[in-house]
Amino acid sequence: MRLKNIPGSRETIAASELVIHEPEKLKGKWSEEFGRKAPLAIEIGMGKGRFLMGMAEQNPDTDFIGIEKYSSVLLRAIQKLEAKPRDNVRLVRMDAEYITDVFAPGEVDIIYLNFSDPWPKDRHAKRRLPSRQFLARYDSFLKPGGRIEFKTDNRELFDFAVEEVNESVFEIKAISYDLHADSVMSEGNIMTEYEEKFSGLGNPIYKYILERKKA
Ligand code: SAM
Repeated sequence: MRLKNIPGSRETIAASELVIHEPEKLKGKWSEEFGRKAPLAIEIGMGKGRFLMGMAEQNPDTDFIGIEKYSSVLLRAIQKLEAKPRDNVRLVRMDAEYITDVFAPGEVDIIYLNFSDPWPKDRHAKRRLPSRQFLARYDSFLKPGGRIEFKTDNRELFDFAVEEVNESVFEIKAISYDLHADSVMSEGNIMTEYEEKFSGLGNPIYKYILERKKA
């Protein structure tokens, strides 16, 4: 994602009630923040938030947390959410590397990864959000029966992600190499900003859904 240093973005974020500023304090207590016991879904690297807001609107009985590393990008999501407020959405600015500080075992029902940064150099493989290192982090807080959904138009990243599943406690429950042509997997699909852009250029979209392997 192209980053512009938007003046005042940190100040706007600091003042926003839609952003959780000390998410570690809610570890194990996210249901208190939302004021109800409901399924919890998170999107890691949510960008400007189109997918997150669309999912929150489509699924009012689920609570959603969008996680984004960069203030300048998060600002766009805040603006979107302020224009159309939703009780079932919160935003967090953080590097997902520290995500296990924020969610307790069994706390999250669904993890969405959309068009994650590819980190093309081999030595940066562990920074990729569907890497084995991240899958182990997700395992620590995903509910039994929970799932991970990943989509991208980057074939190399997708092939890598599929391989990494073998090094994890997860297995592939569903996979598509052309999501938009797959009537089952694309049902209810909400497009992300990147998905709209790259599918518009004619790129196929790849998607997998993971669950833990049955013992
Ligand atoms: N998901 C959006 C979409 O599909 O339109 C944005 C995709 S963009 C390529 C990847 C986003 O993930 C960027 O906004 C980036 O800042 C964020 N990101 C990358 N690594 C991250 C990390 N470790 N923690 C949190 N956010 C991250």
